[in-house]
Amino acid sequence: MEKQLHVPKIGFVSLGCPKALVDSERIMTSLRSEGYQFIDKHDGADVVIVNTCGFLDSAKEESLAAIGKAMKENGRVIVTGCMGAEPEQITAKYPNILAITGPQQYEAVVNAVHEAAPPAHDPFIDLVPDAGLKLTPRHYAYLKISEGCNNRCTFCIIPSLRGDLVSRPIHHVMFEAEKLVNAGVKELLIISQDTSAYGLDTKYVEYPWRGKKRRTKFIDLCEALGELGIWVRLHYVYPYPHVDDVIPLMRDGKVLPYLDIPFQHAAPNVLKAMKRPAHQEKTLERILNWRKICPDLTVRSTFIVGFPGETEDDFEFLLEWMMEAKIDRAGCFKYEAVKGAVANNLENHISEEVKQERWERFMEIQRQISAERQELKIGREMDVIIDEVDDDGGADARSQADAPDIDGTVFLRDAKGVKPGDIIRVKIEDADDYDLFGVPVSNAA
Ligand code: SF4
Repeated sequence: MEKQLHVPKIGFVSLGCPKALVDSERIMTSLRSEGYQFIDKHDGADVVIVNTCGFLDSAKEESLAAIGKAMKENGRVIVTGCMGAEPEQITAKYPNILAITGPQQYEAVVNAVHEAAPPAHDPFIDLVPDAGLKLTPRHYAYLKISEGCNNRCTFCIIPSLRGDLVSRPIHHVMFEAEKLVNAGVKELLIISQDTSAYGLDTKYVEYPWRGKKRRTKFIDLCEALGELGIWVRLHYVYPYPHVDDVIPLMRDGKVLPYLDIPFQHAAPNVLKAMKRPAHQEKTLERILNWRKICPDLTVRSTFIVGFPGETEDDFEFLLEWMMEAKIDRAGCFKYEAVKGAVANNLENHISEEVKQERWERFMEIQRQISAERQELKIGREMDVIIDEVDDDGGADARSQADAPDIDGTVFLRDAKGVKPGDIIRVKIEDADDYDLFGVPVSNAA
């Protein structure tokens, strides 16, 4: 009688930021290559992996709730990710967790899985596609270029969780980028903790790629990615002076005219108290100058309101700065004390009522800026990438100004025949505060 092969099944929960998503993809790719199968429910899995986020207290609560659900529905649970750096918090609530590992400990997670559910020994099952497994749709992918961070922002504990900056050599990054493009990816989202510091730790070491020497450096990476002929979107860029050099690449269509810069604030004393990188660079002047060189530039950012010591004047300075810089897209968080963060020891913490009131005022100003910027797009033609199509000839797409999940959507009518990943020319017919409405140029009246 033939022995039935038991294919071990894994449930997977991925929480947190795009960086954590990339970690999840790596773990899944590695396990899949060993024959593990992933299922989208806990029930029936041999083991459940929960990749946690521990950045804010609210994220920790979400992580603990996800662990609790996995324990209840399955009971065999491995925890990894940022929260794994503080295992006591997890074991206090769930003492029977099989294993806990910290962020980027891919091997430790895989070993824990081997122990909990040994791999099936059949090299011919479930081979991994060449580009690995992606949790994002096939037409876009996140590409992580470094781990860790050399900065010490006072509200953040990521450096203590993830360590100092370690950049991947440029030829490794480009090799992975090419593999993704060959597998059908049309848009790469470049991520790290501090993208424009890329390579600093390697002293910008050079490696050849496509017959040319390239430094492990932000600008060389942007130039090389710009040769791939796909959309390249830059996230988590700090405004160091050398960021100016990438703007001409955006103007020339090599890299998307999109910069995600987590400014967090604009008032000098708040930035100083936050110990933000590049806080002394004259950012407002530079943004205005970037817009002169590349008028289509979209600037996305995140901000914190209610940071300890933030005065009403500081907050108003921020609102005025936002209006002058015309920050196209912005997320705003109310300051939350994170256990272990230096900012907890600062004086003059802000009351929850004031935080809430500032948050509401911020969001209203941001809505107005966004609405004005969106309005300017009505009547224009632009390229969009298709994300989803429906049965009635409609499609959800994104313009160059829209990153997946965090920005707006371009809703298309009369888009029959398009498929996810297609990049097509559309005419914009209408806009609301954050989204656009359009039609393929070939079908425009
Ligand atoms: S730049 Fe600041 S906020 Fe970002 S990871 Fe580094 S220390 Fe944290």
